[in-house]
This record gives sequence, structure tokens and C-alpha cells, in this order.
Amino acid sequence: MLFFASLLATVSAFGQPAAHVEIVPVRGHIYMLAGAGGNITVSIGPDGVLLVDSGLAMMSDQVLAALRQLQQRVSVNGAPPKPIRYIINTHLHPDHIGGNEKIGEAGKTITGGNVIGDLGDATEGATIVAHEKVLDRLSPDGKPTVSFKALPTLTFLSDQMKLSQFFNGEGIQIFHEKSAHTDGDSIVFFRASDVISAGDIFLTTSYPIIDLANGGSLQGIIDGLNHILDLSVAEFRTEGGTLVIPGHGRICDTADVAYYRDMATIVRDRIQAMIKKDMTLAQVKAAKPTADWDPRYDKSTFWTPDMFVDAVYKSLSQSKANQGK
Ligand SMILES: [Zn+2]
Ligand SMILES: [Zn+2]
Repeated sequence: MLFFASLLATVSAFGQPAAHVEIVPVRGHIYMLAGAGGNITVSIGPDGVLLVDSGLAMMSDQVLAALRQLQQRVSVNGAPPKPIRYIINTHLHPDHIGGNEKIGEAGKTITGGNVIGDLGDATEGATIVAHEKVLDRLSPDGKPTVSFKALPTLTFLSDQMKLSQFFNGEGIQIFHEKSAHTDGDSIVFFRASDVISAGDIFLTTSYPIIDLANGGSLQGIIDGLNHILDLSVAEFRTEGGTLVIPGHGRICDTADVAYYRDMATIVRDRIQAMIKKDMTLAQVKAAKPTADWDPRYDKSTFWTPDMFVDAVYKSLSQSKANQGK
């Protein structure tokens, strides 16, 4: 249990708040909000606001202030701002769902009285969408471990779900990535904008974080990265084209995702081979299987190369044990 507790502390501490929330234009009506914990993706336009993730709870006021700035920018002739309609959660960590309650609630207060008629459920606040496993883990046996208002209100069980109609002029698809960073991970694909929100399956700030206690696995992360690459098209050779917003860090293209996928795959193969030779965890760590990439990813005290190797070893040993059954 100590391991679970320390990993949770690690994962929570990972999304440290910045002094302020920065608005980063991505493409067209898609923006990224950085500095609120995990990155937040924003679609803003005539249909209102859709968010992928909601940041840390303590950053909700700053996120709402940034959204108000964006709402003013896109408001036509001083028309009242459009409401926050959807929050899609990529997974259950507090740096991604912490704003659900306050920002979700703001979905109705921003609407005002005169525009409710054509906005359906806007009086109820934003619809919070996530894979069923996110709800299961946040509310085991129907007993919520977070505020009731922070829980997903629309969940899906299958491999994917899409919004039933265009939102701000495009289709939006949500794909479940099984047992990746956690077992409830989703990536969100904005089809016309050609932007993918990857959640914590893809990070530019550290090695992949495998939350074993919440059902994560290295193979699932690699599968998720391959799926992002399947959906992506480069503009020229391997550069440009589809833009990918990581859970933490800067906006990327397919080349960045391929680099990360290759790194994860090579580390997997190296550690797998060591496990086959019955090397102990201490021996594997001593062999430094991540040495080639440490200058790039050994930046986070919350998720060191040592912790990554530890988690990969356990993840691969688990699947080896399962295969034996
Ligand atoms: Zn995160
Ligand atoms: Zn996370």
C-alpha cells in the first residue's frame, strides 16, 4: 500500500500549478491552457466551450478567467458569452479533473437567462464526459471519493464514443486507450482541426508515467502512442500536420510522438530481455536501460528514470505472470 500511496502523491505533485494560466493558440478555434496542472484543450466558438480536462481544483478561478478572455475574443458584436457545454476527462488524476466542479458549474452561470432555450441542458452546467472506468475508480461501489459534482455525468464503455453532432463545426471523437497511463484513459480527436489531446499517455516533460495502482501498463501506453500515430498525418515527410497536445509540456507533431513511442518501445524491449534472463530489479536498474534518453527526460523529480525503470519492470513482470496463467 505504501507504494500506491507514494505513487499517488507523485502523480498529484506532478501537475504543479504555475503562477498563471497561459493561453496558447493551437489551430483555428482550438487553444491550449497551460499552467493549471495538466494541459487543458479548449474548443471555443458558436456552439460554446468544450474542454478536454479541467486542471487542478486550486487553479479553477484562473482557468475561468482565461476562458472569459477567450469568450470575449470570439464574441460577435458584444453578444453574451456562450456557455461551457462539455468537459471531457482524459483520466482520473486530480491535475486533470480538479476543475470539474467549479468550471462545470460555471457552465450554467455564464449562460444567463435569455439564451437557455436553444442550449439544451445548459441549465445543468457542463456535461462531464469520461470512460466508465474513470467513474468506477472515482466512485467505487457508488461511494464518491471526490465531490459528487466533479464526477462524470456521461460515460462510455466501448472503445470509442463521438459527440452526436458537430461542435464548433467539426466532429469530435473520444477513444479509450486500454490500460495505458491508467485503465480509464481517453484521447480526444478534433477531426477538422486535426488536433489530438493525448492526456498523460504522451508527455514532453518526463518518461511515461505508468500508474500501476490505477490499472496502467507500459504496453498500453505504447499501444496508445501507436494509435495517436495511426490517426495522425504529417504535412511533409515527418513534420507538421496533425498537432498533438500532451498531458504536460509543449504542443507537438507526429515526429515528436514517434520519437517518444520509439523510446518507450526500445526501453520495453531492453527490460523485457533482462527479465527473461531473470535479472533482479536492482540489476536492471544498475544496467541503466534508459541512459540514452536521460539527458532529455531526467528533468522531473516527481518521475525520475529510476522510478520509470521500476514501473516498467513491474508492469512487464505482471504481464509475464499473467501470460503464465
Ligand atoms: Zn497529469
Ligand atoms: Zn495523470
